[in-house]
Amino acid sequence: MSLKKYNIWTIGCQMNEADSRHLGSQLESLGYAMTETAEEADLVVLNTCVVRQQAEDRAVGRLQYVSELKRRNPELKIGLMGCMVGMREEPRLRKQFPFVDVFMPPSDPAPLMDYLHGMRDEDTEARMDEIRTKSVQSAIQDEDYILPALRRNNTVLANVPIVLGCSHACTFCIIPYRRGPERSRKPQDILDEIQKLTDQGVREIMLLGQIVDRYGTDFDEDYGLAELLRDVAQNEDLLRIRYLTGHPNYMTDRIIEVTRDLPKVMPHFELPVQAGNDKVLEDMKRGYTNADYRRLIERVRRICPDNTINTDIIVGFPGETEEEFMDTYHLLKDLELDKIHLAKYSVRPKTIAARKMADDVTEDEKERRRLMIDQLSEEILGRKNQRWLDREVEVLVESRHKGKWRGRTPHNRLVFFDADRELTGALVDVRITAASPYSMQGDLVDVKVGPIPRAPDLSRIPMFHRPLERKAGLQPVAG
Ligand code: SAH
Repeated sequence: MSLKKYNIWTIGCQMNEADSRHLGSQLESLGYAMTETAEEADLVVLNTCVVRQQAEDRAVGRLQYVSELKRRNPELKIGLMGCMVGMREEPRLRKQFPFVDVFMPPSDPAPLMDYLHGMRDEDTEARMDEIRTKSVQSAIQDEDYILPALRRNNTVLANVPIVLGCSHACTFCIIPYRRGPERSRKPQDILDEIQKLTDQGVREIMLLGQIVDRYGTDFDEDYGLAELLRDVAQNEDLLRIRYLTGHPNYMTDRIIEVTRDLPKVMPHFELPVQAGNDKVLEDMKRGYTNADYRRLIERVRRICPDNTINTDIIVGFPGETEEEFMDTYHLLKDLELDKIHLAKYSVRPKTIAARKMADDVTEDEKERRRLMIDQLSEEILGRKNQRWLDREVEVLVESRHKGKWRGRTPHNRLVFFDADRELTGALVDVRITAASPYSMQGDLVDVKVGPIPRAPDLSRIPMFHRPLERKAGLQPVAG
C-alpha cells in the first residue's frame, strides 16, 4: 500500500500561503504525503486569489488543467479553496466546475477534512495504521504536524495569520466579501503556533492581517500588535519578526516604538497609500488624505529612523484624471519610499466601485501610469540601495538560487552571495559589492548563527528502526 499524495497549488497573498500550510499539516496528520507535482497526486487543492481579474484567470486556467488530469484519472480528488470560493460563491462554482469535489472558504480546511473522513473505508483505515507506525519518528519529534514532513528543518520563513478577514469597505476591494468580517486570533494560539514552527526550524515569522495594525481591537483587554510583538519576541529560537499589512490610520506610535526597540522586529513597514489624490482617496473610502499620509511617514521616520517603508498603489481607479494621478506620482517622488507594490485597477464583482463607478481609464492609460511609477520606483530604489555599497549587512539566508545563496537584510533587501557550505537559515554578515534596484550582491564575512540543524535521521538509530533489536542489545552480553 502506498501513501496517498497531495499537491497544493497556491497563488495570491501570504495569507493564502499560510492557509495552504495549515491545510497541508492537517492532511499530513491524516497520513497524506506532499508531492510537488499535481500529476502524481491523489488529491489536488487549488488555493485561489481574486484580488484582480488576472489572478482569477490564472485559477480558472489551472482548474481546466486539473480537470484534464481528472479525466485521465477519475480517482483524483480536487479541492478548491480561497477567495474564489469566499463565503458564498460555492453554489455558483459548483455549476461552473462540476468536477471539483470539495470547496473551502479562505482559512478553512474543515470541508475537505470532513470529506476525507467521509471517504474512509477499510482500505484507508489499514493505510492509516501503516502510516501511524511509519511516522513514529515524526510523531516523536512533533505531534502536531505543523509543517509538512518535506518542509521540516528546511523552512526559514513562515507566515502566521493574526487577524482574519477585513471589515473595511474600500470601494475597490473584494477581500471583505470573500474573507468575511475582521477577527483577531487569540494571542496564545499565535504564540503556540510560532513555538511549533520554530521547533521545526523556522527562523523568521511574518505576522499577517489585512489590517495587521488593528490586531486586538476586538478584544476586551488592551492588547494589540505592540503587545503581541513583545510576546512573540520572547521566543528564543526565533531570529526575526515582520508584520503586514498596516493601514495608515491604525499605525500607532506604540507599534512604531516597539518595532524600533525590539531587535528581533525588523524595521520594515508596509503602509499602502493606494493613491495620492484626496478625491481619489475619498472615492476609495480610505479614510485619510495625502497630507495625513505625509505626516504618517514623517512620524515613522522620526520615531524609527532606521527603516524601510513599502507601499501599495492602484493606478487608473475609476475617474482618476491625469492631474489626480500626478498627485500620486509627486507624493511618491517626494517621500522616496522603498518597494512599491503596483497594480492597475481591476473591476471586482460586488464591490462598491464595480456597482457605482465606471471603469473609465483606458487600459493603455493605466499601463502608461503604471510604467511611470515603475520607472520612478526603480530610480528611487537604485539610488537608495547605493548606500549599502561597501557596508556589512546582516542577512538571513533563505535558500540556494542558481548556485548562489539568497537571503534578506533587515530592510528586506534581497542579497546574493557565494559560499560552498550549507547555510539554510543561517544569520550571516555580508559585505555588499554591487547594488541594483531589486537586489544586491556581496561577499560572506561571518556566520553569526549557524544553519538550521538537520533533523537526526532516526531511521538509522536501531531503537527507532527495530525496537526488538534494541531491547536485545540491552541484555548483558552472554558468555
Ligand atoms: N489590506 C490592504 C490591502 C490588501 S489587498 C490595505 O488596506 O491596503 C493587496 C493589494 O491589492 C491592495 O493594497 C491593492 O493595492 C491591490 N488591490 C486590491 N483590490 C484591487 C483592485 N480591485 N484592483 C487593483 N488592485 C487591487
